[in-house]
Amino acid sequence: MDKPEKRELSLYVHIPFCKSKCNYCDFLSFGGCGYSEQKQYIEALCKEIAAYKAVAAEYVVKTIFFGGGTPSYVEAGFVTRVMETIRDVFLVEEKAEITLEGNPDSLTKDKLVEYRRAGINRLSIGLQSANDRLLKTLGRVHNYDQFVAAYSSARQAGFENINVDIMSGLPGESSESYVRTLAKVVELQPEHISAYSLIVEDGTPLGDNEALLEQLPSEEMDRQLYAKTKMLLKNSGYDRYEISNYSKKGYACKHNLVYWTGGEYLGVGLGASSYMTVWLDGEHQEKIRFHGVENMDEYVGRFLQCEEMREDAYTNVYHFFESNLEEDADGNDWSYEDSFYDTLEDSFAMVSGMDVLDECNSSHEKRYRQYEDNVLLEFIRDYYRDLQFLRRKDEMEEFMFLGLRCTAGVSKAEFKKRFLVDIESVYGKTLSKYKEQRLLIEENDRICLSDAGIDVSNVIMAEFMI
Ligand code: SF4
Repeated sequence: MDKPEKRELSLYVHIPFCKSKCNYCDFLSFGGCGYSEQKQYIEALCKEIAAYKAVAAEYVVKTIFFGGGTPSYVEAGFVTRVMETIRDVFLVEEKAEITLEGNPDSLTKDKLVEYRRAGINRLSIGLQSANDRLLKTLGRVHNYDQFVAAYSSARQAGFENINVDIMSGLPGESSESYVRTLAKVVELQPEHISAYSLIVEDGTPLGDNEALLEQLPSEEMDRQLYAKTKMLLKNSGYDRYEISNYSKKGYACKHNLVYWTGGEYLGVGLGASSYMTVWLDGEHQEKIRFHGVENMDEYVGRFLQCEEMREDAYTNVYHFFESNLEEDADGNDWSYEDSFYDTLEDSFAMVSGMDVLDECNSSHEKRYRQYEDNVLLEFIRDYYRDLQFLRRKDEMEEFMFLGLRCTAGVSKAEFKKRFLVDIESVYGKTLSKYKEQRLLIEENDRICLSDAGIDVSNVIMAEFMI
């Protein structure tokens, strides 16, 4: 595949502040932080974005997503400032989808107007339930009336693309109560509805509350609620395009589709994940994944002093890989031995925060020297954590896991194009087994989960591990 002149990129911007923590939440977010902490964070965030100026030249940004946390909790001026920085650094497509997540209590009229001015054109509102008693149980900071008011203000401010998040499987909730939430949301006619079931995470107040845990619905009821959601939303004009996501025609979330279809995304902000392609020579590519640091002081400390990445970041990386290609025993020029990646990642782990040359044996030192000459890797090493070079098998697994989440499923031709082998030669047995059981459906070039397959999707997905 030849390197395109400009590649498409999605940007995720993490705003880790909330009014207070919900009882079920294990996201990287903090309740009750004051103005000065938020301001300092936004300054560090803008420095981080600015550092990508050299890399940005290769991209056109198609989607931006402010997630959290609760981005609507911080001053709207901070969102404007981040948007201005993004536009200074990146070429943002005129019709880019730009989403902001918000909670009903903080989506005020003034903020909504300022978001529109800043270019935000999609809102994702966290409702979760129309039942105020259950909202309290979840530790949510709003009630249903506040949601209706925020929704109507958003329409008045000109938002024509709104998602509403709802949750099933809440402790003690009857099926009728859940369906009432669904019906009330549908009545408002948002363009998109995300309907997830509650996941109980260890270490959260909900996870430690025996009394509430006893009131969780059975798996069978969960399945019934899922079927009801699908039917009710289908009858109301919403297409299911992913296991838990429904939209009116033309309103599927472009940003999330990038995650599910293996597109490139850059996550900025505390703990954000990135998945990017490093082009080696205009023809060959490596996929890398890395994460932002999760400690707030560390994040702010690092990025407030962050320098711009050098312009040759992406071209320098080629020399690093090129010098190792010769070591590939099979003479394949598109793949490396696992041990090559292991050493690479070991070297990376070793250099974080310590004097690597004291720690390295001579072969590691050789590798490290190559790192040292590599601007992009050097930058990632200094500011991020968990750099991972995706092996071909990792990429195949992700292709299957993420693709099967979407109703459109995976394309056999696309698999061959990406991995240069037929999908059957890797997954033939698993595919036949689940097609026979009618849990997978094959139609023309595409393979997707059947309705019965969705109910046991976790079991099926696990079998695509190589
Ligand atoms: S608003 Fe969202 S991110 Fe914040 S605590 Fe609640 S669930 Fe977590």
